[in-house]
Amino acid sequence: MIGGGFVCPSCRTPLGIDLGFIIENPVCQCPSCEAIMSFEYNEKIAKEYRKTLKEIENIKSSFSV
Ligand SMILES: [Zn+2]
Repeated sequence: MIGGGFVCPSCRTPLGIDLGFIIENPVCQCPSCEAIMSFEYNEKIAKEYRKTLKEIENIKSSFSV
């Protein structure tokens, strides 16, 4: 489930992470119960995210010239 914030599937602790964090850290650990979570199945979303980041950077560089 994506959109309502990420919680630990084992202890339900809100992880306080967003999509950008998951893209950069596809495997993270719950601070509460130390369960390891893998978000590698989000590859499609990761691609979209990186594409958007690139577009933002392109816009930024065209403004800074
Ligand atoms: Zn947990």
